[in-house]
Amino acid sequence: MFFDFHSIHLRLFFRVRSFSQSEDRMQVFTQKKNPITGSTEWDVQHEDYDYHQEIARSAFADMLHDTERNKKYYRALQLAIERMHKDGRKANVLDIGTGTGLLSIMAARCGADSITACEAFKPMAECCAKILACNGVADKITLIPKRSTEMTVGENGDMKEKANILVTEVFDTELIGEGALSTFSHAHKYLLEKDCIVVPDSAVIYVQVVECPTMQKWNKLNDLADEELENVLRTPQKMKDCAGSAAVHDIQLSQLPRQAFRELSEQIPVFYYDWSGRTPIDMKRTVKQQFAVTNTGRAQMVFMWWELNMDTEGKICLSCAPWWTHTDADVASERPQDTIPWRDHWMQAVYYFPQELTLKKDTEVTLISCQDEYSLWFYLEDEKSKYKNYKRPICECGVHMALSRTHVSYLNDGRRSKKFLSQLRQEIGKESVVLDLNGSSFMGLAAAKFGAKQVYIYETLNLNVGILIDYINENSLNNVTIVPNIDDSIVTQVTNVISDPNFSNALLPWENLKMAYILYKYNSKLRSDVSITPEGCELWGMPVEFQDLHKIRIPLDKCEGIDMTTFDNLVESSRIISDADIEPQPLWEYPCKSRGLPRKLLEIDMRVLQPTYATNDIHPILDTDCDEVQSINGFVLWMSWTVGGKQISAGPQEWPAVGERVQWDMHTRQAVKILKKAHEAGSTDTWSSQIACDLEKGQFNVDIKLNINDQ
Ligand code: SAH
Ligand code: ZN
Repeated sequence: MFFDFHSIHLRLFFRVRSFSQSEDRMQVFTQKKNPITGSTEWDVQHEDYDYHQEIARSAFADMLHDTERNKKYYRALQLAIERMHKDGRKANVLDIGTGTGLLSIMAARCGADSITACEAFKPMAECCAKILACNGVADKITLIPKRSTEMTVGENGDMKEKANILVTEVFDTELIGEGALSTFSHAHKYLLEKDCIVVPDSAVIYVQVVECPTMQKWNKLNDLADEELENVLRTPQKMKDCAGSAAVHDIQLSQLPRQAFRELSEQIPVFYYDWSGRTPIDMKRTVKQQFAVTNTGRAQMVFMWWELNMDTEGKICLSCAPWWTHTDADVASERPQDTIPWRDHWMQAVYYFPQELTLKKDTEVTLISCQDEYSLWFYLEDEKSKYKNYKRPICECGVHMALSRTHVSYLNDGRRSKKFLSQLRQEIGKESVVLDLNGSSFMGLAAAKFGAKQVYIYETLNLNVGILIDYINENSLNNVTIVPNIDDSIVTQVTNVISDPNFSNALLPWENLKMAYILYKYNSKLRSDVSITPEGCELWGMPVEFQDLHKIRIPLDKCEGIDMTTFDNLVESSRIISDADIEPQPLWEYPCKSRGLPRKLLEIDMRVLQPTYATNDIHPILDTDCDEVQSINGFVLWMSWTVGGKQISAGPQEWPAVGERVQWDMHTRQAVKILKKAHEAGSTDTWSSQIACDLEKGQFNVDIKLNINDQ
């Protein structure tokens, strides 16, 4: 199928951040769905909409902005070519997965005698051909638009003879998730001479065993407790026992607050990968290691990262370690995480143990590290807890299949749920008939627990229904009905409409206006004294300066002196076709400073809905005249919901002060617009917002612009 084709190949090239769950991943391909009604409108799309959106969303990927990566590849390649020449041999280079051609052009500049570049993804190979021409090296580099494993060597083959230098960068956050193992073993068997030099020469995967309740919130549903910490709903045992999702959880670990986790071990090297061909590559292995526990605590997961040894002598090392174990970090600095290179195409990964285990300082336990062709997983054993086998964890409880990690963490967010629950406690009585519009939340079940006469939960997704039923059984609730549509007979009885403002399939903040859309449809039939929670919502926006995030989108222009404008143009044209200039991002992982006052862009009162809303405003950056200049490279938009007169912000957790770092909610994604370049804005400059929301049609449009006299 068309989409599968692109999703596979583009993910290889662009290292799209895996939205960790199948459901989220599907959303990437249904973005032109109507955000509010959820219905998909394919007809309005460019026929390659999906493909262009993927390029636009991901292609300015910071991989090519990653100077440390580029420079270390360049240097190691230069050393390899020099070594061959010193030994009186020709330097015949093979570049597997050339992408834009970057590493091949570097090889040409280092004086390689022959260069073959292959690229599996055809549109990228086409772009590469243009880049080679534009940099005047088309005659020096043979470009083969094929996967390396389909290449042949010989008189009529893709290469006349085997190469003696391999340069390749086919690694992802998990190191081997892009198929590196088969790429290398095939290359050594068929495409390379025995005594070749490989850049990189080898790799090591490290893990650290940790206790981190904050991260565990992304993995397992906790019991639901109210403000008095009284248990409202018990999570079914099978969900607590579930081994969890097999999908890697990639994350910017360096942004995790230091007090959020406890290290229970030193960093442990678990897998060594010899890319050089001196020893064979294992497609599957299980390694048991004893290690000394350095702190008492609950072992919940491992943090994982890797290092590449670029050259044969081990002098050039490329490390993805988080700051507290990174050799280049200045740990004495106020923000040590800012003292190591930033990148988004490689993050760190979290692997949750299938079961937690309490560890005691100074004892020894066994870490079991498992690897197959594309992925990793981990077990932990002590004397008492042993496993029969070490199979790859799969979800058997439904939660990890139905809900994204972000949504699981949202459901575990006590700050929000406690406000919602205290409102429900006040509102719900013996006579209450509740209609819950969000079946990917437990608020309807909580209303039942609080004694409502009857609760109807509107939900159409089977997986979500399954989770609700398990909770209903576990908590012996008997007055809950899950309905796939809302009949008049229900609507007319309802005394309370509730809707937790985060739907499992919403990506952008305003996709949660699904609540307003449904309400609008049934408005005229609802009782006049019906109570609605949340009673309203606001959309806010603010100019910001991203510390690094803009690097995923800004044009490259040049990369190590190599002209990349062809690539920039490809991305720009895709951006225009796909109209993907506002995207969801978990901003707690991407530091930014406020560069202007937050402004309210739209307000909706759920109790008096209008068919349409439109605002068109011009906002000064600041309210005061001053000489201060603000460097702005983006905007952030978020929703804030009103529950019982209190605000629940899916944006900043503290009111942002201009010039200060913003504390973003960790359990939702914010909407981000990244500007192509940073602008210096004075106090007379402005930005404008146009919002149009149509509850009848279920449409929502946002347009944000910075207005600057840029002389
Ligand atoms: N070498 C470039 C691009 C790296 S991204 C650079 O360093 O900037 C990895 C690229 O390798 C992607 O374009 C992907 O499509 C390609 N790729 C991965 N495995 C491959 C293989 N076995 N054969 C050919 N291309 C491959
Ligand atoms: Zn599960």
